[in-house]
Amino acid sequence: MSLKDEELARYSRQIVLPQFGGVGQQRLKAASVCVVGAGGIGCAVIPALAGAGLGHLTVIDGDILDLSNLHRQPLYRSREVGEPKAALAGQFVRRLNPFTDVNPVEHRITGDNASDLLTGHDLILDGTDNFATRLVVSDTAVRLGIPLVSAAAVQFQGQLGLFRGAPCYRCFVGDAFDSDDCDTCAELGVLGALTGTVGNAAALLAIRALAQVGDDPAGKLHLFDGLTGEWRIMRLPADPACRACGT
Ligand SMILES: [Zn+2]
Repeated sequence: MSLKDEELARYSRQIVLPQFGGVGQQRLKAASVCVVGAGGIGCAVIPALAGAGLGHLTVIDGDILDLSNLHRQPLYRSREVGEPKAALAGQFVRRLNPFTDVNPVEHRITGDNASDLLTGHDLILDGTDNFATRLVVSDTAVRLGIPLVSAAAVQFQGQLGLFRGAPCYRCFVGDAFDSDDCDTCAELGVLGALTGTVGNAAALLAIRALAQVGDDPAGKLHLFDGLTGEWRIMRLPADPACRACGT
């Protein structure tokens, strides 16, 4: 996949990186990513991926912009309250980078539509705010054989990981949360600086996987404590009895 002169100039500060180079740029241009959730995590991920020259970006979000979103979702403006977030994110991407093809989807993802919405992407990045949705997205990613970056931030804690087959996200959280909308930031609170930190770290994992730079990040959980600034990395065991990825 060749790059135009304008693309070479636009991405020159990353093409100059020896680990990334023109080959990494071409891999990003050839790649298709589905971002599930255009909230705090998505608002960091979407500009990072589109700015870096991802070829195709699908953004799935069924919500409209609420005034209480603005403290952590810098893609949006005060005058846009009440408008659909997926459409606003699509406008943002078109303004940022005309070389990224964007498909905004104004639907909530569920067990009924997840396969249709996620099929055909090279990577899924889930930044939604409840376990039930995250497990639907993860189970579907396992079934479709698509790598998943799952990222979450609540209060002062962040977690993210890249899952490719086993271990999957369900191996990590178990089966207890399938019907539970617990632990949303509406109830527990979160700082915008935390969702931005975790979202950018998730975008970096996605770019590493797509451009094939650095160590393979699959199967490790990255934990961030916003009150100490410390990151911890744990290697996750696969659960042989996992109903998504187990044998
Ligand atoms: Zn599993």
